[in-house]
Amino acid sequence: METLKAIAASPGIAIGPVFLLNAKHIKTIKRKIDKEDVKTEKERFERAVSRVEKQLRKLISELPEEIKEHSNILKSHILMLRDKMVYDKGIGFIEEKRVNAEWALELVLNEIKGLFSRVKDEYIRERLEDIGFVVNKVKAVLAGTETRLDFSSVEEPVIIVARNLSPADTLHISKEKVLGFVTELGSRTSHTAILARSLGIPAVVGLEGVTSRCLSGETMIVDGLKGQVIIEPDEATLSEYRQRQENYLKYRLEVIHNSNLPAETTDGYRIKVMANMELVEEIPIVIQHGAEGVGLFRTEFLYMTSKTLPTEDQLFLAYKEVVERLKPHPVTIRTLDIGGDKLASDLCCEEEINPALGLRAIRFCLHEKGLFRAQLRAILRASVFGDLRLLFPMVSGKGEMIQVKRLLGQIMDELEKEGKDFNRDIKTGIMIEVPTAVLTADILAREADFFSIGTNDLIQYSLAIDRVNEAVCHLYEPLHPGVLRMIKMTVDSGHRENIEVGMCGEMAGEPLYVPILLGMGLDELSMNAMAIPKIKKIIRQSNQEECASFVSELLGLESANQVKDKVVEFFRENYPPDMETTDFLEFDLSLT
Ligand code: PEP
Ligand code: MG
Repeated sequence: METLKAIAASPGIAIGPVFLLNAKHIKTIKRKIDKEDVKTEKERFERAVSRVEKQLRKLISELPEEIKEHSNILKSHILMLRDKMVYDKGIGFIEEKRVNAEWALELVLNEIKGLFSRVKDEYIRERLEDIGFVVNKVKAVLAGTETRLDFSSVEEPVIIVARNLSPADTLHISKEKVLGFVTELGSRTSHTAILARSLGIPAVVGLEGVTSRCLSGETMIVDGLKGQVIIEPDEATLSEYRQRQENYLKYRLEVIHNSNLPAETTDGYRIKVMANMELVEEIPIVIQHGAEGVGLFRTEFLYMTSKTLPTEDQLFLAYKEVVERLKPHPVTIRTLDIGGDKLASDLCCEEEINPALGLRAIRFCLHEKGLFRAQLRAILRASVFGDLRLLFPMVSGKGEMIQVKRLLGQIMDELEKEGKDFNRDIKTGIMIEVPTAVLTADILAREADFFSIGTNDLIQYSLAIDRVNEAVCHLYEPLHPGVLRMIKMTVDSGHRENIEVGMCGEMAGEPLYVPILLGMGLDELSMNAMAIPKIKKIIRQSNQEECASFVSELLGLESANQVKDKVVEFFRENYPPDMETTDFLEFDLSLT
């Protein structure tokens, strides 16, 4: 049993067999190991051998009657696996030469080849092929044979363990086949983590080295509340976690049960709680979790899942469906935010050295006008089917808004000429996620009907922290005094111009930050649907006036650590413990 800790990316507990993915490239390399890793590497070797043994025994038992007599070949392979020349030598090489299991196997094979080359007997020389077969099977298990998400060979639900999962990979994940996932790369705000939360799949990310510590088929526990992963748990741990899993499910049911209660503080402050959405399939989850509408519909995924660009009509039908099914609630469709870590398979783009600072989002759209036009036409055409709002990502100043509005005006005239219906008074919003947008929020507020603060990017750009790079994610700090000031500044600038200010970054869905966001006077919080019930619950337990004076106190503090201590203290004093928030408080915040 081995317990590892990393970033809690999506809450919940998963228990099941590992499905090792795309580890091949890192594990077939020959690697020298440190003295203290010898034991782990020997165990890894042993586990891989046992796994192949199990596979072979299964194969023998499943052999059709007519070839049963040949089972001896497979039985001899099992013997070879445990043969001194293979097994003992392999273990010996790991110990003496301090090499990883793959390298040790290669040394084994070379030595056997040397011995066999001196043998004259043809039959015995042919046995070398069998040894090669057996050794390669062990190597394949060590490497993780799968390189793509292909569930055709998966018979029971699994926990995916991978070096990395692209957002496109994550889209293929179905809740029936995937219990949870663990990746070496990523952070809480990488899109893979965001999707895991929307799908309600427990996940731990940023766990360096996990693909070389477990094998397909081994049992794993993923604790997405605490950011823990346990490989091959013992019986006591398993039963403790089964209990914890049951408690969590009960807790979720109870929270969801109250999800339609209003998000109103004890002193009567109403804040809208909306959902972030990526896929049309999420609509039932959004409704079931008590969303008052969609504050952010990310539209990248329709472009990522198809090989060719979606047509205007395809987009129109998708948007129409979302708006109609969520009626009378508002749906905020954000225009294409491709680029950065959201790369469309064939669509994008020149490879850029700094994609997050490159041709992304609104810049990309203003550059690719044909593509942008098609999307805007589709959104406008869908706007007559419900309460649809438009949101523009990554705006850095007034100049871009002028270009966008000019284009929008042209498209409206065009649609009118064509006799196509649309809502000319459609509300338009600006995502505030670039520091210059904060600094010019007073100007931008006159160009839009609402703001939505995108903290995922705002924090990335203001602290200069790559949001998908786990090496710097401990520096990603939502409670940095600079970040808090920027949020406050945006809210105040928006309110001075009488427009509503919401937040749709992941910060809006974290329990710990709710008192701050209430205290700052935000009008709307939009988050992954799974988070809505618990955030609403915290809002109902809050007093906005108290939160506001708490925020004044926070804004006088000088460092993120000081803020963090105060916030945790405030939380413990004012809110009763419950499973997700308490675990979140225990969770090492520096990892976020
Ligand atoms: C954000 O940046 O906070 C945001 C909501 O947009 P995305 O995560 O899609 O970049
Ligand atoms: Mg963003």
